[in-house]
Amino acid sequence: MSCQTPIQTVFDTIMKLEDAGELATYIPELAHVDPNKFGVCLSTVDNRQFSYGNATDRFSIQSIAKVLALSMAYKMPGGEIWERVGVEPSGSPFNSLVQLEADNGIPRNPLINAGALVICDILLSNLKNPLADFMTFIRDVADNPYLNYSHRIAESEKSVGYRNIALCYFIKSFGNIKNHPKDVLEFYFMLCSIEMSCVELSRTFLFLANQGRKTSDNKEILTLSQAKRINAIMQMCGFYDESGEFAYEVGLPGKSGVGGGIVAIHPNTYSIAVWSPRLNKKGNSYRGMKFLELFTTETASSIF
Ligand code: GLU
Repeated sequence: MSCQTPIQTVFDTIMKLEDAGELATYIPELAHVDPNKFGVCLSTVDNRQFSYGNATDRFSIQSIAKVLALSMAYKMPGGEIWERVGVEPSGSPFNSLVQLEADNGIPRNPLINAGALVICDILLSNLKNPLADFMTFIRDVADNPYLNYSHRIAESEKSVGYRNIALCYFIKSFGNIKNHPKDVLEFYFMLCSIEMSCVELSRTFLFLANQGRKTSDNKEILTLSQAKRINAIMQMCGFYDESGEFAYEVGLPGKSGVGGGIVAIHPNTYSIAVWSPRLNKKGNSYRGMKFLELFTTETASSIF
């Protein structure tokens, strides 16, 4: 079945509604993005693609990249991840410090900032050239040698990254960061500033819809069990303290970022990326959430 018609119908419906969100301005560079951009792309496991709107414009994928960092760290020998980070929804904002004190520096999950910093630390400990090796990994997963991160956005975030700096040093005080916090933060800011279009993003995440394997050459990125678990973590923790709402309204595992992107996975069927920069109060794309809610309803393609 072609998804082009439902994508366009839902897109046009959303365009007629008020876009009630606000741009993320706490990272100065993100405040310069055109707030009216709106793009969608759906990629299927049998290698078809349907896109609409500003689907080929690149944007800052921000926290969506945490899923890629987790995927790479999951492949590392030693299996220490789940001793150093949990798999429970935090129910708190993405950059919260409060739970860490009671939890002895073990972040609730790998998709909040605290957890992603620990994942970055694991990558740093295991990779020879962390930055280059990570970029090689995502370019391979995406079948796209042109993917990159924005120095400008990384620097912009670094210039105001007080909370992430506090988080990293706080976790270090519990012994759950092994490398120098400066190096971990440098890597984290790079990770958050990776840029992709909806077309590239939906394509990159297709391995999570395809049981951990690339659809182009069947190469295993993650085992079936690992892919299941990452989807489960996205379902429970992918939308800050609105993960329950996303499951309730959309019914797919996914991950959002403060750049206004959302990627969602229908296991064994498709990966869909939406981008609209205005965010709701919880930090998720206002139109992106609405689009996915209507799209999974229209196509009866929630996993529930
Ligand atoms: N780079 C952002 C931060 O750490 C990521 C936030 C997000 O997209 O959730 O504040």
